[in-house]
Amino acid sequence: MNKNLRKAVIAGNWKMNKTATQAAQLIDELIPAVKDAGCEVVICTPFTSLVTALEKTKGTNIHVGAENVHFEASGAYTGEISADMLVDLGVEYVITGHSERRQYFAETDETVNKRTLAALNAGLKVIVCVGENLTQREQGVTEELVRMQTKIALQGVTAEQMANLIIAYEPVWAIGTGRTATADQAQEVCAAIRKVLAELYGQAVADATTIQYGGSMNAKNCEELVSKPDVDGGLIGGAALKAGDFATIVAAASK
Ligand code: PEP
Repeated sequence: MNKNLRKAVIAGNWKMNKTATQAAQLIDELIPAVKDAGCEVVICTPFTSLVTALEKTKGTNIHVGAENVHFEASGAYTGEISADMLVDLGVEYVITGHSERRQYFAETDETVNKRTLAALNAGLKVIVCVGENLTQREQGVTEELVRMQTKIALQGVTAEQMANLIIAYEPVWAIGTGRTATADQAQEVCAAIRKVLAELYGQAVADATTIQYGGSMNAKNCEELVSKPDVDGGLIGGAALKAGDFATIVAAASK
């Protein structure tokens, strides 16, 4: 397995944290801290901080993403944001299918697929999240579940569009809990996801696709996780809010 076939991506998911003013302060700290990164660096901020993030990061190596996108192009969807609205601002990335969206906002594999397609068709790069909860892990269905989530999320996505798609394997029991999957557990599931991609699109596309791990990745455990052959970086929640910790993770993924 040759990791040089794809790029490592460290993406921060800021969740519902930071006002635009606070975001500006954090980005001021991040810019010098990650300027020598040897991997792709992305910050996914709340919608209200996107304009600030785009202005602040202009001319830097930090890419900006949103945390969600609606699947319709426009219309009577109060409170929602379309892919074209994000593209028009200059946003490059978006997360779909985060487990918090699935858990608290009733998102399903089908709506994750619709959001993913809308984003890709508008020209956004998409980080699609999949992952099992604790019960499912204990029931021994992790691989089947993640295979199913991946296959449904990718329905209608073309092989060409896969160049703009990242999968983030995020075991729900490890998100925001301080409980991380072991590097071997992360590797096992990321490899299983790559196998599904090979079945769907062929080995070349599977080898070229970035597959991240996410779930309490931090400055201490990042090195071992990102050293695994099928773990191409990470989606980072809590540790993305501290410039020093985020920079340490970026440095680990740059090796
Ligand atoms: C996430 O929000 O995607 C995440 C992985 O969060 P945390 O790193 O805080 O577990």
